[in-house]
Amino acid sequence: MKIGNLVGLVGWRGMVGSVLIDRMQAEGDFALIEPVFFSTSNAGGQAPALAKNETTLQDAYNIDALKRCDIIISAQGGDYTTAVFPKLRAAGWAGHWIDAASTLRMEKDAVIILDPVNMPVIQTALSQGGKNWVGGNCTVSCMLMGVGALYKAGLVEWMSTQTYQAASGGGAQHMRELLTQYGTLNAEVKALLDDPKSAILEIDRLVIAKQRSLSASETANFGVPLGGSLIPWIDKDLGIGKNHDEAGWGQSKEEWKGMAETNKILGQGEGFGSTAIPVDGFCVRVGAMRCHSQALTFKLKKNVPSADIEAMIAADNPWVKVVPNTREATIKDLTPVAVTGTMTIPVGRIRKLAMGPEYVGAFTVGDQLLWGAAEPLRRMLRILLQA
Ligand code: NAP
Repeated sequence: MKIGNLVGLVGWRGMVGSVLIDRMQAEGDFALIEPVFFSTSNAGGQAPALAKNETTLQDAYNIDALKRCDIIISAQGGDYTTAVFPKLRAAGWAGHWIDAASTLRMEKDAVIILDPVNMPVIQTALSQGGKNWVGGNCTVSCMLMGVGALYKAGLVEWMSTQTYQAASGGGAQHMRELLTQYGTLNAEVKALLDDPKSAILEIDRLVIAKQRSLSASETANFGVPLGGSLIPWIDKDLGIGKNHDEAGWGQSKEEWKGMAETNKILGQGEGFGSTAIPVDGFCVRVGAMRCHSQALTFKLKKNVPSADIEAMIAADNPWVKVVPNTREATIKDLTPVAVTGTMTIPVGRIRKLAMGPEYVGAFTVGDQLLWGAAEPLRRMLRILLQA
């Protein structure tokens, strides 16, 4: 039976939601749907101009209002999903739920959606009556858009990833805090910077003193200074395992997602009757505004020539772009500044490592708000409308 086109939009005002609406407009998605805009803060208000017949903002906590929708897309966040989704299903709603939050990702009946990588997994679930579709962790989705070809070819024995994640991964307030810190640090040494003869060690001393004395309100979101520094821990402490020698001990939740979600997206591991591919490493917050970058180390199952690896990666999907491993191309094309706001996923620094011919290194950057969040959601909407 064809799926109806009354589509509830929750969280459209947030960071992921705004990027989602932009992309839906750019791709003409609104021509195919009757949108119903929901709000957790302004029910009864005026829906945005994109609304057609449903011009009033609906209460995002009103189960009856949500139940009318054939499809609901939520970019509102995990607390909202936790509060509303079970009630909606308990009330007998049988529509399709598409979500950016991580809450439902590892549930048995939820598929992590990234169709250029796992369309077969999505199609299988759809044919079996699947109704819960959840976008993946932003770092994992961007990584698989870049190097998914190596996984699809069954070449990866294990992968280690070291990430460099932007402030915007935490949301709008985190971006503001970073920029404010940069401004504060600059102001502290502005007079010395304006004087080319001033002593660099004096600038350095003033900057570190300022960083160490930032107030609680100046570090409210990250907890510590990020401007001019980095934070090697993202998301919760999972507290896995009791002894130091257990794999997973001392892992952050962001690091845990690397292995759990990579395998689930690929339809591999415990839930699929096969062995999971080990993925582990460190997730680090850096002072970039947008885009998550990551240095990858692969142990391949066999020695594959670098040129073949590059060709496989380049041919995988229309968005991945191999950046030649030269200094010039790397500093021009393989940075958050180059990639922000684009759908391109560059993969560069591809080279054999000193450990042996099966060890391959690569570096990739992706706009975590596009392929890492909004894009898989709107593409899932299209898949459902065409089903
Ligand atoms: P966000 O920017 O904080 O937006 C979430 C909600 O906050 C909005 O829908 C809005 O709800 C409310 N809000 C309150 N004050 C606001 C203001 N001044 N401007 C805009 N919205 C405001 O959260 P987000 O970063 O988009 O994340 C949403 C979900 O996507 C989360 O589950 C997150 O984990 C996930 N995600 C985020 C990223 C990322 O890079 N940020 C990537 C992948 C997945 P009302 O309109 O109802 O008030």
